[in-house]
Amino acid sequence: MPPDIMGKRAVFLDRDDTLIENVPYLGDPAKVKLMPGASEALLQFRKANLTLVVISNQSGVGRGYITKAQVRSVDARMEELLGGGQIFAHYGHCFAAPGDPYDDSRKPSPKMIQEAGAKLGIELERSFMVGNRLSDIQAGHSAGCKTVLLKLYVPPDEVADADRLAGFSAPDWDSAKEWILKEVGKT
Ligand SMILES: [Mg+2]
Repeated sequence: MPPDIMGKRAVFLDRDDTLIENVPYLGDPAKVKLMPGASEALLQFRKANLTLVVISNQSGVGRGYITKAQVRSVDARMEELLGGGQIFAHYGHCFAAPGDPYDDSRKPSPKMIQEAGAKLGIELERSFMVGNRLSDIQAGHSAGCKTVLLKLYVPPDEVADADRLAGFSAPDWDSAKEWILKEVGKT
């Protein structure tokens, strides 16, 4: 495909335990802490012209524990800690509780990635999904993206399957960043 009709390239990013420390059903922006290395990695991705998109299950809303406004306030704090300005081109959030018959976008479904890709003109096959759960890798894989398992925290019962399916398993953000930038350089 000639460069002039190539779609944009993106890094789709899980939020909890990928970009920020996971606090279950987090609704308090004061508790937001970045994962080590995340900020530097995102800076390098932006320099490499990669579009950044958050893809996150936030079932605490559907379960009635937190509001959408609280999720947005946590996102806003995260962006502030990442340096401010518009870091992410789009947020794909699934607010539904698992099993919600009216919302099938929850990861491992690729739907949020596909919708963001269509909206932003992203070429999914040349893009990346980074996350710490098997469902992140499954969603990215089903969407046709290259996948990176970020192993800062993976639930022990998911490690083996996630490792097997992921395009690359990264022990930390530095390693994930280097692999992605190397892949970007190839094509
Ligand atoms: Mg996560």
